[in-house]
Amino acid sequence: MIELKDIEKYYASKGVKSYILRHVSTTIKQGEFVSIMGPSGAGKSTLLNILGMLEEPTYGSYSFMGEDVTTLNERKRIELYRNHIGFVFQAYHLIDEMTVEENIEAPLLYKKVPGAERRSRVADILDRFNMVAKKDLFPNQLSGGQQQLVGIARALVAQPSIILADEPTGNLQSAQALQIMELFKKLNEEEGITIIQVTHSEVNAAYGSRILHLLDGVIKEDVNL
Ligand code: ADP
Ligand code: ADP
Repeated sequence: MIELKDIEKYYASKGVKSYILRHVSTTIKQGEFVSIMGPSGAGKSTLLNILGMLEEPTYGSYSFMGEDVTTLNERKRIELYRNHIGFVFQAYHLIDEMTVEENIEAPLLYKKVPGAERRSRVADILDRFNMVAKKDLFPNQLSGGQQQLVGIARALVAQPSIILADEPTGNLQSAQALQIMELFKKLNEEEGITIIQVTHSEVNAAYGSRILHLLDGVIKEDVNL
């Protein structure tokens, strides 16, 4: 599903290159649940953002579902993203002025899904997440854990092949964090959704099937659990 070959990312300032990622090569198959771990500054978020097409590598090739992402034009890349990728952020990135229901519906509007289908998909997700009673609330009326559930519901409504999550439980208490990890595990095992998360937590990583350890922009270890 994912093939990275010799990915490099650096920022150049006054002729000096600061490398964030070097020689990163790996493959990730459909159905894997991968955790990217490593100290702050190791390049974890940068790697995840490259996988999610939110950032471009400086060098190297990235193939996603058979498409060479690095040579696609912007329009094709956005289409590939909208059709396959659900991104979940540490700080949720919900739209404050929109209700729970409107936040969840937003990706379907971008994808121009017709109204009746939008309403039925959003209703299904609200039901499944036990959030029907909260659908008209705004993000700031919810706990952090509930906001993250909305963030995940919003990612799922577009029926992604893969969920990319950057420290999805980084702002949550442990009970809420466990709930999110249980949900990821279920989505992975029961629906075959590929999951890649950045995490500092060994507890979170233990929910997955593989850990990539990054250090100074290099994959130091690749462990199957
Ligand atoms: P960023 O993703 O912006 O680079 P960091 O990687 O520094 O941020 O940290 C992301 C989150 O993880 C923060 O909430 C931070 O408090 C927390 N964190 C950072 N280092 C650790 C650690 N060693 N163990 C547990 N949590 C950490
Ligand atoms: P991690 O998620 O492991 O904490 P990041 O991928 O967030 O690491 O960042 C890795 C390094 O890249 C950090 O030292 C960060 O300061 C640097 N970095 C990230 N974005 C930029 C940028 N736009 N310009 C320069 N340096 C950056």
